[in-house]
Amino acid sequence: MGKLANLSWKNRFLTQTPGDSKVGGEPRQVPGACWSRVIPTPPKSPKMRLWSKEMAEDLGLDYGGEDILSGGSQVKGMDTYAQRYGGHQFGNWAGQLGDGRAITLGEVETKAGVLELQLKGAGKTPYSRFADGKAVLRSSIREFLCSEAMFHLRVPTTRALSLVTTGEMVLRDMMYDGNSKLEPGAVVCRVAPSFIRFGSFQIHTLRGDKETLEILLDHTVSNHFKNHSIKDDDSIILWCKEIAKSTAEMIAHWMRVGFVHGVMNTDNMSIHGLTIDYGPYGWIEDFDLGWTPNTTDSGRKRYCFGNQPEIGAWNIARFLESVSPIMENPEKLYDVLDYYVSQYETSRELLWLNKIGIADRSPKDAELLSELTNLLQKCEIDMTIFFRELCHITSPDINELSYAFYNFENAPVKEWDSWLEIWWERVNGSPDRKIMLANNPKYVLRNWMAQLAIDAAEDNDYLICNQLHQLLKDPYAEQKEFETDYYQKMPEWAKNRVGCSMLSCSS
Ligand code: AMP
Ligand code: MG
Repeated sequence: MGKLANLSWKNRFLTQTPGDSKVGGEPRQVPGACWSRVIPTPPKSPKMRLWSKEMAEDLGLDYGGEDILSGGSQVKGMDTYAQRYGGHQFGNWAGQLGDGRAITLGEVETKAGVLELQLKGAGKTPYSRFADGKAVLRSSIREFLCSEAMFHLRVPTTRALSLVTTGEMVLRDMMYDGNSKLEPGAVVCRVAPSFIRFGSFQIHTLRGDKETLEILLDHTVSNHFKNHSIKDDDSIILWCKEIAKSTAEMIAHWMRVGFVHGVMNTDNMSIHGLTIDYGPYGWIEDFDLGWTPNTTDSGRKRYCFGNQPEIGAWNIARFLESVSPIMENPEKLYDVLDYYVSQYETSRELLWLNKIGIADRSPKDAELLSELTNLLQKCEIDMTIFFRELCHITSPDINELSYAFYNFENAPVKEWDSWLEIWWERVNGSPDRKIMLANNPKYVLRNWMAQLAIDAAEDNDYLICNQLHQLLKDPYAEQKEFETDYYQKMPEWAKNRVGCSMLSCSS
């Protein structure tokens, strides 16, 4: 185990793709570039607050380095930069976006391959547009806890290594209603094979810059998809199918655990099929396909829980368009879209059958699942508790699952019992409980749980943060000592509390 300075640092993105000739500087358009070198803004008094031991072990790192991990200094081998990308935001092309408050430290060779380390909230870059390049404690805690929780849930995700508070205050208008407030600042160091997004390609295609597009595609495929190439149409299709598949699987997992990303813009879609950019995300409590945590989207609900698979397809279509200029016959790309749909359907069905203890699919199972989702929507039911209680059911009797209902008195008991009986017969009275327990988490980062951790941390108390970090490392285990606190439906106090049922992009 070593220090950041002892890691083997690389900068393939900087050496292999074209960049900005200027270092840092004011927000501006940077045509033809994939990146701009930027020096992070040193924080006033950095303090390490949260640390992922598992991530550190993968990197071969000892605890520490709060100065470097908040942008205060760099070690030899780091060449810090912000990536340039574009994106469709809420369905509209937004042009150049880029890392407005993310700065990559570099790539590190590890046993598990090369990983990129990136600071979020370490100051302005040429892509900061009108904003300050900073991040507040509340959103940093949300990113740290949730990305680590997702990893332990087996949902593909970027990781978090550390959270350092900066000792500075940052001005935020949390609900965009004119009530600005100073909040403590923080920097998260996040980790992924790369932070290349769909929008990383889109920016070049939509600006008609085929040359840069090709260089970036070459870089991406040769470093991150070593079994692929883009030498001809057939190879490109195979590569695109891999991206479609990993994206479909990621979203199928979101639907399995009840995660709502909240801002599925194309700049927030990782090329590796990893959950990326934890902003106004949320967790389904009452099983409501129309629910979105993001108040900015509360009117149209474009990114609500039930829309996520379809939005995945829409985003894949934009990705395919961005690749199309290098195809001889771009029409062939339609196959990839069909492939996404079939991969999603396959993954979804498999995971949901696992949720109800069926390991071997039979033709009538699709109907069983669709009846279940219909019933789940009929009255208020906590998704996580429902499926967890289902793991332990001893007879087809809805009374055994009453804890999952908000108002059990109003439950359509007959309909539930008849579904349970059909299911019970299908599984011969013995569902595969091992599979169920491994696919139905007992603990997820409910929105109000994150808020409890934030409220305490803003008071300088990181006990709940660390407790939740620990709890969510083993989300499928019973951990009975945490039941009273966290195996619970949304408490009354959280129902109309900002941060619990309402979130915004302001972070
Ligand atoms: P997001 O919706 O968080 O993925 O952000 C969309 C765009 O806004 C990205 O280009 C971000 O880098 C940028 N952005 C978000 N917050 C800030 C901030 N505080 N300072 C600078 N840029 C930001
Ligand atoms: Mg983003």
